Amino acid sequence: MYEKILTRNCGLPRSETIDVYLANGGYEALRKALSEYTPEQLIEVVTASGLRGRGGAGFPAGRKWGFMPRDPAVERYVCVNTDEGEPGTFKDRELVEKDPHQIIEGVILASYAVGAKRAFVYIRGEFFLGVKRWIKAIDDAYARGFLGKNILGSPYSLDLSVHRGAGAYICGEETALIESLEGKRGEPRKKPPYPANVGLWGKPTLVHNVETLANIPHIVNRGAAWFAGIGTAKSAGTKIFCVSGHVRNRGVFELPLGVTLREIIEEHAGGMASDKALKAVIPGGASTPMLTPDQLDTQMAFETLEAAGSMLGTGAVVVMDEDTCMVDVARRLMRFFAHESCGRCVPCRVGTRRMLDILERLETGRGKAGDVERLRDLASSIRGLTFCPMGDAAVNPVLSGLKLFANEYEYHLKNKHCLVPQHAAMDVATA
Ligand code: SF4
Repeated sequence: MYEKILTRNCGLPRSETIDVYLANGGYEALRKALSEYTPEQLIEVVTASGLRGRGGAGFPAGRKWGFMPRDPAVERYVCVNTDEGEPGTFKDRELVEKDPHQIIEGVILASYAVGAKRAFVYIRGEFFLGVKRWIKAIDDAYARGFLGKNILGSPYSLDLSVHRGAGAYICGEETALIESLEGKRGEPRKKPPYPANVGLWGKPTLVHNVETLANIPHIVNRGAAWFAGIGTAKSAGTKIFCVSGHVRNRGVFELPLGVTLREIIEEHAGGMASDKALKAVIPGGASTPMLTPDQLDTQMAFETLEAAGSMLGTGAVVVMDEDTCMVDVARRLMRFFAHESCGRCVPCRVGTRRMLDILERLETGRGKAGDVERLRDLASSIRGLTFCPMGDAAVNPVLSGLKLFANEYEYHLKNKHCLVPQHAAMDVATA
């Protein structure tokens, strides 16, 4: 039995309210930080904790904070990335809907550390309950003196407001998020300069994922050494894994980083939903390369998944049984990425569309000679050659499918139908 940290309040009645949050030790970390730590000391604590970003890239949070300029005369901002949109990912929604004050406390602490007086929540437009919960929680935090002027009687002041996006996947990328927040079309910017130097309205900006921020109050309350002692040497803390697909219990499970994929699937998710055998697992969201049953003992941590040829990503585990057609999996995911391509660069805009055409042909028995090679060629002319990482994300499911299940692609081409007798469509939960 593991201790729940980020989701400890999530099962309580009215867990989204400020009263329940306060009754369970809420805003104590803020009180402590404002009275005991200078901003520099707070950055040191978070750096020592080893906290890494939970939005997918896994960049060390303390280092990111350290990139922000120290000159107090320079205006700067903090943005909360609530644009969760990776297929299979629904962990931030759990925190926003069930414990928004935990995130607000994390935002205030991060803003205090980097010297920001203005912070923004960027949330995807379809996230209706999340928007309501954010707005109500922010109003209540203002009313109780946790936001606004002279927070808890200290010299520090912060304003926080909510901005709804229009629901584009690419706005989860920090520079596209900033563009959208500025009222422009959500497209990534060239990096460098990074947002820590030139971000929102040209000012230094810290962008953090919801789950990352939710960790901060606990690190302040319980110390960097406590946090660093959970998980593995390079992946500290817990992770909220969202499990979907062919398992008995789909849902979110907060577990220490380093837990094995086998434990997640067999114990926490209750094993396979039927008596079918496991065929493949997407370990960290749609854009992460698949793993096979012989890799079930892989630890779910940044470094171990990388060594296994995949990524931790958002921690969205999609489980597929033996009746899953891997060509169909690739087609479904490519349809998502082709639709979500922002159109800024040709390899992604045109390449994902062409790959989708081929996958649709193969899936519906209209494949042409050379289609499998064409897929490989197109993938290699997208991978590493696009303006932002979405190009790589889009081709990963196809490349990993071709590497592990090339026979299924060839079978579709040759026989004009699926190799899998009972072709069961993958059920990917989308956030
Ligand atoms: Fe837009 Fe290019 Fe990124 Fe695709 S790879 S989302 S087209 S910038």
